[in-house]
Formats: sequence, structure tokens, C-alpha cells
Amino acid sequence: MKALVAVKRVVDFNVKVRVNADGSGVDIGNVKMSMNPFDEIAVEEAVRLKEAGKINEVVAVSLGEKKCEDTLRTALAMGADRAIHVETDASLEPLAVAKLLKKIVDKEQPSLVLLGKQAIDDDANQTAQMLAALMNAPQGTFASKVALSADEAVVTRDIDGGVETVALKLPAVISADLRLNEPRFVKLPALMQAKKKTIEKQSVEELAVNIEPRLHVKHYAEPKARQAGVKVASVAELVEKLAAAKAI
Ligand code: AMP
Repeated sequence: MKALVAVKRVVDFNVKVRVNADGSGVDIGNVKMSMNPFDEIAVEEAVRLKEAGKINEVVAVSLGEKKCEDTLRTALAMGADRAIHVETDASLEPLAVAKLLKKIVDKEQPSLVLLGKQAIDDDANQTAQMLAALMNAPQGTFASKVALSADEAVVTRDIDGGVETVALKLPAVISADLRLNEPRFVKLPALMQAKKKTIEKQSVEELAVNIEPRLHVKHYAEPKARQAGVKVASVAELVEKLAAAKAI
């Protein structure tokens, strides 16, 4: 059984991004980039399933600029067996990503496709759902637990106010939520080893997908600075202030 894991290169979650002076975009000139945190969880889950003997191959795939190779190397160092890079400098919307992934799925025929529940740059939370639709496959999004058997994945999903358990016939699409696992720390020797592995290249042209953006972002703006809070001396004063602000 094979698992395909989608890994996106995003601005590191510790970086505070700034909007360009003209509001035309976000300045990511010299900032640290990393694997999307939810994708790290997805890779970890695939590698654990492999270690448990449930699957025998983990293929990582990333779409985007040349530097996505670094993200793929991290996935290889975590334990992925192979990596595929769809190289493009174009900015990709979730639908374009889903269509490109669908082409890779057609070629690789994985039993399981694992993604992050959302990319922390666009916060779209759309790709896994769109891919499942394009594949006409069942989806288990926001997974906090995955149990795999020969033809089924039982996925526990985080939902509002609780959890839901769904059984999916394979092949299926799963998106990883925060509680699914804690990704392993990648050690330097593993990263060095991963440098020796080859990354298979694919182009958007080869995959014959129209990636033309459908959305036009008009303007970016920083959120308004928050006003400093005040310290209150007593609960009574707090209640008084909340009442005055019509908050209670
Ligand atoms: P989104 O729908 O943009 O929030 O992204 C959800 C998930 O789709 C991510 O966590 C990744 O697993 C996958 N994904 C999105 N964009 C890419 C990309 N350019 N390369 C690889 N995987 C991606």
C-alpha cells in the first residue's frame, strides 16, 4: 500500500509577516520558510503507518518554486521514501493544487493521500476537499486519529464540540489536524542522507493543468494594532467596566 503526502513550503510559523508598503502583497523576501506544520503531521502519520507495517511506501509531493526541494528533503529525512516536485514559479490557488495532485494520484495510484488540514499562509482549508472531489474518493478531514486496514481507513475527526469517527473505503483522502501526532525532530544525519536522494521533477505543462488564478486579491492590509489593556483592582471593578462597555 502506498501513501502520497502533500507538503507545502510556507513562511515559518514563528515569523511575523509584514504587508508591503503599497499593500500589493506580503513581504517574504528574507524570511525563514519551513514545511507547513500540518503537513509535517501528515508526513509523520504516513511514516508511522509505514513503521507499523500498514503501508510500504511514502511518497512526498510539493508544488511550487525550486526551493520546495528543501521541504521535500525534510520529508525524506523524516522517512518518506521518494519525492516528487512539480516545479513552477506561478502562484497556485487550492483548485490548481488539487488538479495537479489529482494528476500525480492518477500516475502513482496511492491508497491514501494525506494532506495538512490547511496551509498557514493562505489558510484556505480547501485542497484536501477539492482533491477528494476530483478523485471521487471519500474524505476524512481534520483527522486526530487514523486506523488503517487493508481496504478501509477509520478516521477520528475533530469537530465542533467533540469528535466524529468515519470509515472510509480506500483510496481515500485524509487531512491532518494538530492532535493527530507530534512530528519527530529531524536529525542532521537524516537530513544529510536525504540530500543524496533524487527528487523526481514534473512540470505543470507535462501534467497539462490550467493553473490560471481565478481570484484577484485587490489589497492586503495589516490588522489594526490592538489597544493596551487595563489592570483592574477587583472583580467588582471588572464587572463595572464590562457593564459600561455593554459586554455583559
Ligand atoms: P490549503 O487548502 O491551501 O489550506 O492547503 C491544505 C493542504 O493542501 C496543505 O496543508 C498541503 O498539504 C496541501 N497543499 C496546498 N498547497 C500545496 C502545495 N503548493 N504543495 C504541496 N501541497 C500543498
